[in-house]
Amino acid sequence: MSARPEPPEVDRAAAGRAAIAARRARAAVKRAVADRSRTALDVAETAWADAASAEAGLRVRDLLTSIPTLGPTRVAKAMRALGIAESKRVGGLGVRQRARLRHWLAARRAPAATSRLVVLAGPTAVGKGTVSAYIREHYPDVLLSVSATTRRPRPGEIDGVHYFFVDDAEFDRMVGAGELLEWAVVHNSYRYGTPRPPVDRALAEGKRVLLEIDLQGARQVRASMPEAVLVFLLPPSWEELVRRLVGRGTESAEEQARRLETAKVELAAQDEFDVRVVNSEVGEAAHEVVDLMLVPEAPGAPH
Ligand code: 5GP
Repeated sequence: MSARPEPPEVDRAAAGRAAIAARRARAAVKRAVADRSRTALDVAETAWADAASAEAGLRVRDLLTSIPTLGPTRVAKAMRALGIAESKRVGGLGVRQRARLRHWLAARRAPAATSRLVVLAGPTAVGKGTVSAYIREHYPDVLLSVSATTRRPRPGEIDGVHYFFVDDAEFDRMVGAGELLEWAVVHNSYRYGTPRPPVDRALAEGKRVLLEIDLQGARQVRASMPEAVLVFLLPPSWEELVRRLVGRGTESAEEQARRLETAKVELAAQDEFDVRVVNSEVGEAAHEVVDLMLVPEAPGAPH
């Protein structure tokens, strides 16, 4: 292999100037994210639209650490969850990495609306139950709506705490009397529904309310209470979702296959939602969900 000829002196000087200009341009992009004049999502979209842009040359790690609310530990954790190597530049990400980063940034972005009513939905086995149990334990002032269901209690489940366990006749009565905010047949088997009065009461008292329901239910809430914020809980990856589904070990092989199929269809619904939260770490996901309920105080309201 022959040695490459040295570039002429004048080229090297020009290249050096170009490198300095590029570095300056990248620093300007980081400053814009830090002072909130640009969102990280906008920077990423610009990078992907123009591979020669300053945005494309920015390291993902530097972009994320420019976001005012993100420290280096959370950035490192997020990058691991997103499957992005430390040294990667925004423009050098693969298609799936781009999709994951886009979703993650969209979920982080100050949501279009905050609301006292948040609906948490997502695919089977993504960990909705774990996230809502965490919220029940750590944020006791958030009302976690207790659903009615026609399925039988599992060991350890308490009537009135985990669900109101009712028979078909009682469920029919609740539907007929308009007592349910929404209801659906889940997994082609049992009926589940959200009793309306406790939700209405809590909202009237200014409390924060969380509904952990399936997609069909989330769509009904969107229609009947458009002020609700709909959150879609995402797995860190498809592989992780499969692992969680199979790892649960409570379903037969056919049931697992059926649930994987359902999960694929369910994942496709994420674009209907206001916010996406990646469930890599339960405490962090719970925190993100509760953050959405931070309704700004009215001017002059007591703190
Ligand atoms: P599980 O039987 O495992 O407790 O719950 C099965 C599914 O029912 C979960 O996906 C859960 O989100 C959903 N679910 C629980 N309560 C309700 C509800 O009140 N309404 C709707 N639509 N789905 C619910």
